[in-house]
Amino acid sequence: MIALRAAWCVPVAGPPRRRGVVLVERGRVVEVTGTSPAGVPVVDLPRHAVLPALVNAHTHLELSWMAGRVARDTSMPAWAGRLVSLRREAGADDPAPMRAAIAAMRASGTGLVGDIGNTLASVEALAEARMPAVVFAEVIGFRGDLADERLAWGRTERDAAAARVAAARVVSGARGRADVRVALAAHAPYSSSPALLAGVAREAEASAMPWSLHLAESVEEITFLRDGNGPWRALLESLESWDPAWTVPRCAPVEYLARLGVLGPRLVAVHGVQLTGGELARLREAGVSLVACPRSNEWTGAGRVPLGRFIASDVRLALGTDSLASADSLSMFDELASARALAPEVPPARLVRCATLDGARALGWETELGTIEPGKRAAIIGVELPAAALEERVHGPEAWLLEGVTADRVSWPGLPGGGDD
Ligand SMILES: [Zn+2]
Repeated sequence: MIALRAAWCVPVAGPPRRRGVVLVERGRVVEVTGTSPAGVPVVDLPRHAVLPALVNAHTHLELSWMAGRVARDTSMPAWAGRLVSLRREAGADDPAPMRAAIAAMRASGTGLVGDIGNTLASVEALAEARMPAVVFAEVIGFRGDLADERLAWGRTERDAAAARVAAARVVSGARGRADVRVALAAHAPYSSSPALLAGVAREAEASAMPWSLHLAESVEEITFLRDGNGPWRALLESLESWDPAWTVPRCAPVEYLARLGVLGPRLVAVHGVQLTGGELARLREAGVSLVACPRSNEWTGAGRVPLGRFIASDVRLALGTDSLASADSLSMFDELASARALAPEVPPARLVRCATLDGARALGWETELGTIEPGKRAAIIGVELPAAALEERVHGPEAWLLEGVTADRVSWPGLPGGGDD
């Protein structure tokens, strides 16, 4: 057993504690307390807050090679069109950018990742790095007649990736624990047919896993579902993916999903920039998780995410960085700083919960990660605080965690491997 004795302990499961002690044994939290028992070796962190490792609930690791190559835009369809052409002309076989991205995530305090994959090349990289993750094999295709084929592809890719994870575990000598779980995602309502959306939701239910969907990201998606035209339709037509048999639903995105019968607690809806108050209430009632990616929305031209409204609606809200094609970094501390700037009225502890416990809940990892609590993995990070935070008497230290904590201030005091036991 070891005792992590820190200036502040932010367990997220309860209020922050000055001079907190976390007892850790065999990679698990035993207790959060105020004193370290005699005879137990102490790791002293007199200038640090300890908190659960952060959860990046939405990224695309396989786009890491695009860092800085898809410039900012004011129109999301235009931005996406450029991403699609870059993807077609350049190869992405090199695993090095992905590995570097995972290492940078860990260095900046991330200990669980929700990753969207089209090639599923990230699976090995995550397994090798022993980074806990849910990798979503993303199916895409607007033509209804192709839904069965696309779904079959997704199932095959998912199962093959799960087998590769098992094999990587044997090679790395990890003991019987699947840290990388593989699930399915559909891309978005404007790029996945109704049959495909329903099929992916069904698969998620059958396999007791979450499924992910980009939802209500751009204003053009609202137009597309309401009128059946606009830039997304033009892009589908240019890619020969438009389906003339599709019935325009003439409604908002959440109503569309409700009609398809796919709203439920396994859904991880990503972005939601265009959601109305009524739609947020509906997502909350259905137990859907929402993931906000503020920096990406600004970058792609999707707009300003209404984070304050998300919080006020009490929908389960996680945070994600999205990919390096639409963010400067995969640091969740950078994302938190951006969230803070967008919604300064939100209590800091609430944003910290979005980036820890609620992300773990969205990804189905909450029994293992997301808080510092007895029985959970000791995936604990230390953050070096400024002097003012050490002298704080009234509030917790959370506000200081939202000021753009850099990787040089982050450590993994419990476990050198950052969560391995
Ligand atoms: Zn995305």
